[in-house]
Amino acid sequence: MLWLIVTGAVTVAGELHTVMPVGANMDLFVMRNGCVLEEMAHTTGELRLRFSDCTTQPGHIDTPIAGRISHVHWEPATSGQVELRIGLLGNQRITARSVEDDPDDLLLCMPACGDDAPTGTQRFIEVKGLTLDIPLQGMDLDAIVDRSLGHVPTQDIVRDGLPNFGSVRDDWLGRSRSHKGIDIYVDSINVIAAADGRVTQVGSGGNSGQYIKIHHSDAVSTVYVHLRRALVRKGARVSRRQVIGTIDGASGNAVEPQLHFELQVNGIKVDPFGYLKQDKTVAPYLLEKIRIYEAKLSDAARIRALLVQ
Ligand SMILES: [Zn+2]
Repeated sequence: MLWLIVTGAVTVAGELHTVMPVGANMDLFVMRNGCVLEEMAHTTGELRLRFSDCTTQPGHIDTPIAGRISHVHWEPATSGQVELRIGLLGNQRITARSVEDDPDDLLLCMPACGDDAPTGTQRFIEVKGLTLDIPLQGMDLDAIVDRSLGHVPTQDIVRDGLPNFGSVRDDWLGRSRSHKGIDIYVDSINVIAAADGRVTQVGSGGNSGQYIKIHHSDAVSTVYVHLRRALVRKGARVSRRQVIGTIDGASGNAVEPQLHFELQVNGIKVDPFGYLKQDKTVAPYLLEKIRIYEAKLSDAARIRALLVQ
């Protein structure tokens, strides 16, 4: 028997084989076993990462895989190099860092990774001189856009409708009605008061599950529907960000767990995203994302209209 012992300078290139969104912030996880990150070039609209000592098969992830990203594409460049291109919605900061457990992997975070991330403000919109917070504890603006306008329910868009204000739904009532709030698809989370105020209604119903209405000023009220539990009583004073209820599973006629959130201004139910779109302090990429999601929703509404004909 002949044994061959091979030793010496055998260079094994690394391989970039997986790019996937992870975590609540939809950070990008890049598995790059052995590839060396040589360069990270950030321009408006695109982030390019060049790896050396690297091989790959071309790959692509369709839009939108994450709230701030339009597409991800990677392919071999010149010999031993791989280029990863990430399309960005607007001008934004991205941090890249190695994953502690496995330095070969890379995490791309927008705008910052994990503990480095600034504690997100709950600020949602300004209405009649009043600051309203996002009514779900710990949620940021990106998540509220992704989980409402960005979420098209697939189970039954005839009865459940679309998450946006004004969408048509047939519900369990057997007739069409216009949706006078926004749905935010989320589970196992605390619901918080959007602003200081007084609880004017707490109730429950077959369609709504538990619900709460809060009067904030003479002009502004908010309503929170599809709660698992209401934690305040009618007449109670509540402060901004106070936990008032919980969502834990679908409640009422909701097929998927969600908060149905209503904003009333001068007694009329209005679209909270209308205020967000007019807000000069909102990041341009977020407005672009809203525009993209709303275009998709109007496509979905056309499909719904064909289904009910
Ligand atoms: Zn709703």
